[in-house]
Amino acid sequence: MNKLDPRNIYDDLHQIPELGFEEFKTSAYLADKLEAMGYKVTRNIGGTGVIGEIKGSEPGPVMMLRADMDALPFLIDGEKKNIHACGHDAHSAMLLAAASELVGKVKRGTLRILFQQGEETLKGALAVIDAGVIEDVDIALGLHIRPVQDIAYGEMSPAVRHASSTFVNVVINGLSSHGARPHLGVNAIEAAAVAINAITAIKINPIIPWSCKVTGIKGGGVAPNIIPDKVEMIVDARAQTNEAMTELLEKLRRAVTNAAAALGATAEVTTPGGVIPAAEYDDELTAEVAECIVEVVGEEKLAKELVNPGGEDFHYFVNKYPHIKAAYFGVGAAAAPGLHHQDMQLNKEALPSGTAVLVKMVERKLG
Ligand SMILES: [Zn+2]
Ligand SMILES: [Zn+2]
Repeated sequence: MNKLDPRNIYDDLHQIPELGFEEFKTSAYLADKLEAMGYKVTRNIGGTGVIGEIKGSEPGPVMMLRADMDALPFLIDGEKKNIHACGHDAHSAMLLAAASELVGKVKRGTLRILFQQGEETLKGALAVIDAGVIEDVDIALGLHIRPVQDIAYGEMSPAVRHASSTFVNVVINGLSSHGARPHLGVNAIEAAAVAINAITAIKINPIIPWSCKVTGIKGGGVAPNIIPDKVEMIVDARAQTNEAMTELLEKLRRAVTNAAAALGATAEVTTPGGVIPAAEYDDELTAEVAECIVEVVGEEKLAKELVNPGGEDFHYFVNKYPHIKAAYFGVGAAAAPGLHHQDMQLNKEALPSGTAVLVKMVERKLG
């Protein structure tokens, strides 16, 4: 099998944007190519995930390279449309091209190529973990293209440090009564107002980036003269470390519960989508990624580490199996106007450099 060009793979994948857990054409394309290269391929991992493996002749670590595959849903002029607005087609393209270059280069250990489904649903990594294919991983390497807001085109960052993130559902239950007799009821909207004030008064150590804000509220309005007995709120919460997130959620629960109780209401606080863990990277591995970036694009294109308030389900791997040494780098691909924008465009000429860093890292660890 000849070396594949990530720009050509990108062109192919960009034409078949599919939503998380529905990446049927994308995963078949990637699995077929891996198989043709001589990888031992397992399909349908936790849904639509694909793994390709090559083993060296000598013992060594299991090194996993991971790319995500899914696109995002948009509603444009009333029509549903899937678009690769986060660049996951670029990630799969860089990884498949790296896989093609690594055939015959794995001397020790195991190279595991993972094409992961459903990153945008934040359930893909968990599905892969449940499939039992992460436990024996020693080293995990991920990557993501970066928008113009983060780093310049052609630059690469050795670490994208995502925050822990979650959305919190709050349900406040009061007591309905006639508008003329509010003293007989408990107004859930008033309790929600007190709760919002309490939420905005939460404090976490300000040297750690964090935020917590109400992003949805629903209640009352059935009739203008009925005291509302129920309010539902959504709170978007983020923190740069897992410890800060634990503290934030405890304080959020306390603030909401006590604020509601002050007016005689009760509150239920849940995180139905789970809590995405913050990035936890191995410093030595990250330093090696930085060295490889310098080898590929030169010192002047080595960008600083990025602190990113966005979530990434890649971090479930280390959160679940703390023995895994992980790193995750950013590829400046001139993505604009921004990720998750329906008009997002990137410069595919950035992709060969991403592929080259992946290849160099595997040569260091398994060559
Ligand atoms: Zn995204
Ligand atoms: Zn993404």
